[in-house]
Amino acid sequence: MTQHGEHLSFGMKASSVGRRGCVEIVCGSMFSGKTEELLRRMKRARLAKLKVMLFKPRVDDRYDEVKVVSHEGLNADAIPVASGEEILALARPDEIAVVGIDEVQFFDQAIVPVVESLANRGVRVICAGLDQDYRGLPFGPMPSLMCIAEFVTKLHAVCTQCGAPACRSQRLLATEGQLFVGGSAAYEARCRQCFVAGVIPS
Ligand code: ADP
Ligand code: MG
Ligand code: ZN
Repeated sequence: MTQHGEHLSFGMKASSVGRRGCVEIVCGSMFSGKTEELLRRMKRARLAKLKVMLFKPRVDDRYDEVKVVSHEGLNADAIPVASGEEILALARPDEIAVVGIDEVQFFDQAIVPVVESLANRGVRVICAGLDQDYRGLPFGPMPSLMCIAEFVTKLHAVCTQCGAPACRSQRLLATEGQLFVGGSAAYEARCRQCFVAGVIPS
């Protein structure tokens, strides 16, 4: 048995009878490697000749509209969608074995029954997303997704202040709202002790 539930789909082709669906959540702060880990799992599924589809919310246009891109520059083609229903319409469980969703925290609660439905119909659904927002509060549908998941992996970045494992995303710009999308100019990874809830006063 390998880490992260990869044993569940090992060796099973998309057409396999009795294919077992499941939900895997990769969470953590910004820069913790969620996108890298999602792309690693998707690549391994592709190497196993499974049919995979990768989605991202339309709201996230930080680097590239039709790609998922990590902070290191690692990337893969992705389909931008406005809602979970679009994922359901595009990822047909009889054809697709693995569905990946990056930045899943940006979807509303309707993503939860979508993920559940795909998993119930045999799809391995891997979701990567921020578990906390810039205030350190639960982000959108993440609590529910973590609750229904078979596997939850919490990754950590390196705290930019003290070097400890970082679980929070410190917003550096004076902007309100959960949905503010930005890279290293707007956010940095911090541990519990170094984190200041909300925006750092300038
Ligand atoms: P996430 O999707 O969780 O935001 P990514 O997978 O896009 O993270 O990027 C992870 C990469 O970010 C790391 O491999 C590393 O190169 C880079 N990085 C930049 N700042 C940090 C930090 N403070 N801690 C850890 N990794 C960092
Ligand atoms: Mg990411
Ligand atoms: Zn710290």
